[in-house]
Amino acid sequence: MTASFDLGPRPYLGYTGGVLNRAAELRSDTAALSALATDPRARTLAIAGEFVCLQKGEHRHEPWFTLAQAAALGTGPDQTREQVFLGRHDAGPLFAVAIDPAAGEALKNRGDLLVTDLRSAAMRGLVAREHLPAFAQAKAVLGWHGRHRFCSNCGAPTVVVQGGWRRDCPACEAQHFPRTDPVVIMLVVDGDQCLLGRQPRFGKGMWSCLAGFVEPGETVEEAVRREILEEAGLVCGRVAYFASQPWPFPMSLMIGCHAEALTTEINVDRTELEDARWFARDEVAAMLTRRHPDGLTATHPYAIAHHIIRAWLEAGGGLFA
Ligand SMILES: [Zn+2]
Repeated sequence: MTASFDLGPRPYLGYTGGVLNRAAELRSDTAALSALATDPRARTLAIAGEFVCLQKGEHRHEPWFTLAQAAALGTGPDQTREQVFLGRHDAGPLFAVAIDPAAGEALKNRGDLLVTDLRSAAMRGLVAREHLPAFAQAKAVLGWHGRHRFCSNCGAPTVVVQGGWRRDCPACEAQHFPRTDPVVIMLVVDGDQCLLGRQPRFGKGMWSCLAGFVEPGETVEEAVRREILEEAGLVCGRVAYFASQPWPFPMSLMIGCHAEALTTEINVDRTELEDARWFARDEVAAMLTRRHPDGLTATHPYAIAHHIIRAWLEAGGGLFA
């Protein structure tokens, strides 16, 4: 018999729920893009490598700059780099601009700005959550630009086209598109217990789902089973898709699943994990609601692992029906 738990209201899953219209049909229309960029309502995010630039406010901070303000954030011609058209919003066209990371470091000294990493901005609520989907879009695509300034086919410098959604090589004519790296993240379940793991970098007492990159030539389900076997030595059968989450660190898509364990004897891969063990439902509920007697916790609600674990607690035995 499955107990029911009072887990409180369902929290927001970070970076999801975007409302802007990406208007991909405009990316090849340079005249339309120029008009949008000179629209007085146009606004842009400013991203310097791993850091986002915010205009300081009293409680929350403002992420949107005018294009002129953003251009002034760089201190030299090389320090404001790619600009990407994010899409149209009711309030006006939205862009993202890359600030040179060195210039971003210098901006940390400005009293009117807060330059911080996106994880902190999201977890600590430094910006309203409605802005997080655009940040995920902007950080991932600008991060891709930062790593693809040269053609991977012939080595020549590439040029930005399509409003920032493609880079072309003038030498060999290869076209390069922004990539998203699929990552499977899954909760292994065995009746009334589930498996959680700890990576060495986790904060004290925090446990989470197992995760790993999908490799070429495998399905999501095969990647889930392989990662679990590699990291915890468990054989799994049925895999059920739960939900996905953009994860712009640097440019992943987290694919959340539940996996049914067929074996229970754990063999931890210590190069990947510090530890992994089975947890009972009531213990996991206490971790999720931060009421565990030993102070153990599960992942922050802004990450999909929290939601995958919560869904298992809520679903009882029906996950694979
Ligand atoms: Zn080339």
